[in-house]
Amino acid sequence: MPQIDWTPEHKRTTTLEFDRLKLKVGERARIVLMEKPTFTWVHTLRAPKVVDGQASKVMKKRKDGSEYADWEMDFIGRPQCLGDHATIAEDGLDPKNCPICARAKESEEVAGPDRRFAMNIIKYNTKGDGSLVSPFGCASQVWTFTEGTFNKLYDIAQEHGGLVGRDLILGPCQAPEAFQKFDITAGAKNVWDTDDSVRQIVRETHAQNRIEELEAACGRRAEARWLKEDLKKIAERWAVAHGRSAGDPATEKGEVQSLKGELDKMLAPQPDQPQRDAEPEAQHPTAAPAQQAAKPGETDDLAKLLAGLNI
Ligand SMILES: [Zn+2]
Repeated sequence: MPQIDWTPEHKRTTTLEFDRLKLKVGERARIVLMEKPTFTWVHTLRAPKVVDGQASKVMKKRKDGSEYADWEMDFIGRPQCLGDHATIAEDGLDPKNCPICARAKESEEVAGPDRRFAMNIIKYNTKGDGSLVSPFGCASQVWTFTEGTFNKLYDIAQEHGGLVGRDLILGPCQAPEAFQKFDITAGAKNVWDTDDSVRQIVRETHAQNRIEELEAACGRRAEARWLKEDLKKIAERWAVAHGRSAGDPATEKGEVQSLKGELDKMLAPQPDQPQRDAEPEAQHPTAAPAQQAAKPGETDDLAKLLAGLNI
C-alpha cells in the first residue's frame, strides 16, 4: 500500500462538504458575486410519503385561499441528468442516455430535468439587521439556485450591467426555509471595493476557498443503476398511494380486487388448470383479477360470494 499525504490531491470531496449559502427564515445577507455561475441538468425526485403502509395526504392552499388535499411528498434526491446537454436543450429530455428522462417520457411520477446553477460567492459577516460586523469579516460559500433565481439575477444584470464584483442584498428569507425564497436587490455600493484592506481580505478569501468542481454542488452524480433504484422506489410509493389509501375511488376498486384475489386463492385449484399454482403471481392477491378475466364461470361464482359479503 502506498503512503499518502494530507494534501489536497488526496482529498475526496463530497456534496456534504460545500459551505453553502443558506438563509434562515427572516435572515438577510449581503454577498458579492466573484465569478459567473456554472450549471448542469438535474432531476428533482419526489414520491408520496408512506407511513405504516399508507400514503399520507396534507391540506394545501390554492391562491384563492380554498383548500385541497394532496399527497404529502418526500424528497428522494437530486441526481444529475445523464442526458446529453444538446439533446436536452433541444427536446427537454434525453430518454436514450438517462433512465429518469426515459421514465419521464412515459409517466408523471418523475419530471424532465431542470437547470441548476452554482457559483462561488463571498458572504459578508453581518448582524441580524444586515449591517456589517466590525472588524470586517467574510466567508467563501457556494450558492446554488434554480431557474427562477437565475431570471431574477438576469434582470439585475440587465439593469446594472453585469453582476461579477457587485454586491447583492438578499432577504429576508421567507418560510419554509427549505425553499430559500427571498428578494434579491443590487447594493447601492460594493462593500468589498471600498477599502484596500477589505479588498485584500475578500480577494484572498475567494482565491483560497473557491470550489473548482461546482457541478457536484448542483446535484449528485450517480450511475444509471442507482438512478434505476431511485425510480423503483418512486414507483413503489406511487403504487401504495394509488392502491391503498382510503376514500380514493381507484383504491376501493383495488381493495375489492384484492379481496377477490384472496377468495380466489381459497378456492380449490381447478383440475383443468394445474399450472395456476405454479405461477408465482398466484401468491399475490392483486395479480389474481387478471387471471379471473380469462375464467368467466369462476368470476360469476366470485361475484355471488362478493355480493353476499355486501362490499
Ligand atoms: Zn435525465
